[in-house]
Amino acid sequence: MEPIILDTTLRDGEQTPGVSLSVDQKVMIAEALDKLGVDIIEAGTAISSEGEFEAIKAISQSGLKAEICSFGRIKKEDIDAAADAGADSIFMVAPSSDIHISAKFPGRKREDIIEMSVEAIEYARERGLIVEFGGEDASRAEFNFLMELYRAAVDAKADRLTFTDTVGVFTPDRAMETMKKIKAEFKLPLAFHGHDDFGLATANTIFAIRGGADEVHVAVNGLGERAGNAALEEVVMALEFLYGIKTKVNKQAIYPTSQLVEKLTRIVVPPNKPIVGDNAFTHESGIHTSALLRDTTTYEPISPEIIGRKRQLVLGKHAGRASVEAIMKEFGYRASKEQLKEILSRVKEIGDRGKRVTDADVRAIIETVLQIRHEKKIKLLDLSIVSGVNVTPTASVKLQINGREVVEAAVGLGPVDAAINAIKKAISEYADIELVSYHVDAITGGTDALVDVVVQLRRGDKIVTARGARTDIIMASVEAFLEGLNMLI
Ligand code: MN
Repeated sequence: MEPIILDTTLRDGEQTPGVSLSVDQKVMIAEALDKLGVDIIEAGTAISSEGEFEAIKAISQSGLKAEICSFGRIKKEDIDAAADAGADSIFMVAPSSDIHISAKFPGRKREDIIEMSVEAIEYARERGLIVEFGGEDASRAEFNFLMELYRAAVDAKADRLTFTDTVGVFTPDRAMETMKKIKAEFKLPLAFHGHDDFGLATANTIFAIRGGADEVHVAVNGLGERAGNAALEEVVMALEFLYGIKTKVNKQAIYPTSQLVEKLTRIVVPPNKPIVGDNAFTHESGIHTSALLRDTTTYEPISPEIIGRKRQLVLGKHAGRASVEAIMKEFGYRASKEQLKEILSRVKEIGDRGKRVTDADVRAIIETVLQIRHEKKIKLLDLSIVSGVNVTPTASVKLQINGREVVEAAVGLGPVDAAINAIKKAISEYADIELVSYHVDAITGGTDALVDVVVQLRRGDKIVTARGARTDIIMASVEAFLEGLNMLI
């Protein structure tokens, strides 16, 4: 049997310090999770706020295939909120360790917790909810009491049981043994909810499955309280590729979903994070890249395409001719000696500033250099820009046009606009040029990233597309504009 996947990105994940999602954002993520193929979406805690209630309601009404679940305590108002929001199920937890019992229900004894749990489960069933019942902090609970609590829950007709390692102190061997013990007594589906406080969440989750757990709680990008929950992408990929345990997850959607969650939660995925981190399929130039280009399995356990992403080759500041040539070959470009020299010098220019150069950057540089013509009618000799607060952006340019020097100045709405206006003025007596479109992209993100500018220029009925790639947005724009001019004139 494939393991049941409960995704808690929108509940425990949203409890990540600093994360707060709007209703619309939660719906967007829920839709992505549904496409990803998780069985259960724990969409939030209906009782916790009006926004949470509305989000669960909206997600429940959006016609998703997944079961929509609300988190709740063993309290009537929590159950009512979950049911009123239209959730299919409730993941309800009762404190099971003495630490949690005395902190959450001061003065209450273990027997009281059992009684309250039974009442809550029965009430939730009355309200039409599927009940997943968990002992909170189960990994620090006395095992015999936990089993007693589960027994009562089963008698009260809970639908599933959950073992929660609330503070992430479990170990893989204990996870496996404990699941075996629980499964030996109960036939109900058993879930494992793990946390990564010691970096063992994924391992614990996998060993819980090996011990007989039927369901796992995971979150995209390993979001969750403190160090987070078990990462969905790690658990799924390790199960499938290392343990041969298939899941229903659509692996192609893993990376796009990770990116969406990163954008909306604004919790940046660390570059060295398995599967979804920036560096997970990135290779430094040198021996690695040349072997990798011959056979990708040399330095990759799986292909990045499997999870919907692409391999990246990074050229450091020591980027050699061989690396650039390898990338050119991969993309099918040919360059003259001079062009290759120019490409290398531009790549090094970025590398020297300590910025990593990706294959996408190199590609933009190559394409820019390859379009450059040797014979230039228009050359940029000088450019100066003034911009700031209480200043009208102003640019002055000195161009060489057909061997003649022309100096012009112009203002604009911004520095790029001012620079382009000044160039237009300088060439106005030679040609009437219209800027049809202007598109700018930062290739790898960051304020020091390579900026790729693509412009379309028109002269009469002739339209050309030109490109500029620099770390300086103004220079990239001017370069693209001048290249286009040289094509047209
Ligand atoms: Mn948790």
